[in-house]
Amino acid sequence: MTVCIWCLRENSTKAIEHIIPDALGCPEEFVLTAGVVCEKCNNRLGQVDQAVIADIEISAFQAGVPRKNRKQPGIYSYGNLNGGVFENEKFLVLNMDANPVTTPRGTLVAPFRGRERDVRGDFSTHGTEATLSFSTDIGRSKKFRRGLVKIGFEALAYYLGPSVARQSQFDSVRSFVLHGRGERPLMLTHASDGDYKNQAWPPFKRGVDYAATFRLAMMEILIDLSPDASLFPLFREFAEQNMNSSEYTFLPANA
Ligand SMILES: [Zn+2]
Repeated sequence: MTVCIWCLRENSTKAIEHIIPDALGCPEEFVLTAGVVCEKCNNRLGQVDQAVIADIEISAFQAGVPRKNRKQPGIYSYGNLNGGVFENEKFLVLNMDANPVTTPRGTLVAPFRGRERDVRGDFSTHGTEATLSFSTDIGRSKKFRRGLVKIGFEALAYYLGPSVARQSQFDSVRSFVLHGRGERPLMLTHASDGDYKNQAWPPFKRGVDYAATFRLAMMEILIDLSPDASLFPLFREFAEQNMNSSEYTFLPANA
């Protein structure tokens, strides 16, 4: 029997836990052994993982990252935008029309209706060249932030061991990720190389408090895992003194 780092209950779950969602390309060794996250918590936190996948999947698709269980790259989380692979070619369908359109794979893509997961795009042609441009926001949903904190906390369990992660000083982190209680400010830095890369580093420690740091796609993410998020003002001070304001951002937007 192992004790789960999320619900702190004994369990005999057989599955390993991918620390970064598999659909975004988790480094092979970056997993927690069976039972460190129980099956119940794994299922319960699926929606939180899904929020992270939804906001990162365009970048993952462009980088050619296979989806879960080695399925082909794809974009599935948007209303009027869909991407996939057909006859070994990647396709992207952005529907700004009033009616559904069909992808090369034969699936329907809804029209643009101005909904939250719809993408506004522009299409222009210059001679024989066509350009499609659009932009999407990431990090608007609280579930996305919970998903990032989940990754950071599981990275701590990976580097320091599950027994450290089970300590009561992380109860507020558990409560935020599992139930969305409270708030946990995050700092995001844009990686200077612009590559799609997933990677983690050992947590940073100050006194008895920890902060987790990892890279997801083109971002480096710093997560305060102290009980009352007391490290966060230090992150802010460091960023303001040492970095260009266009290189970093804080979440939530009003943090
Ligand atoms: Zn559990």
